[in-house]
Amino acid sequence: MGMVLLEILRAHHLLCLQGFRGLGYSPAFVENMAAVHRQLFSEQETLVLLTNGADVICAACPHLDERGACARGAPETRDDAVLQALGVQAGRRDTWRAWLDRLAARLDEATFERVCAGCAWLDLGYCREGLGALRTLRAGDSLLPLDGGGIRWG
Ligand code: SF4
Repeated sequence: MGMVLLEILRAHHLLCLQGFRGLGYSPAFVENMAAVHRQLFSEQETLVLLTNGADVICAACPHLDERGACARGAPETRDDAVLQALGVQAGRRDTWRAWLDRLAARLDEATFERVCAGCAWLDLGYCREGLGALRTLRAGDSLLPLDGGGIRWG
C-alpha cells in the first residue's frame, strides 16, 4: 500500500470533484485540480479533512486573495450546506472512499440543487452527471478514474 496522504478539502469541493472534466479558472488551477483528482481517485484510502475554508484546490486558484479568502462569492455557505447534508462538522477526517460512500448515501437531488444554485459551472451538467453516477455506487464497488476527469465503476 502506498503512503496515505492527508488532504484538506472544502466540503463543497467534494461535489466539484465529481464533475471535474479538465476545466477551471486558469491553467495552473486546472493542473492542480487534476493532480488532486488523480490522487484521490487512484489512492482512495487518502485521508481527507473537510473544512469550510481555503483548501488544496484553492491553493492554486486565481481568486484566492492574499488573506487566504475567496474573492469569488461566499463558498463557505456551500461548504456548510454540504457538511450539514453529510451530518458532520468542519474538521472531520475520513478516507476519500468513505466520503464518497457518505455523499452517495446522503446527498439527494434537492440538496444538490440548493447547494449548487448560482454556480457558474452548474449548467455544463458535469456535476449533475458525476453525482448521478456516484449515487449508483454500492459499498465494495471498485472505482476507477477516467482520463480527463470523471469516474466509472468496474
Ligand atoms: S478560491 Fe474560491 S473560486 Fe477558487 S477554488 Fe477556492 S472556493 Fe473556488
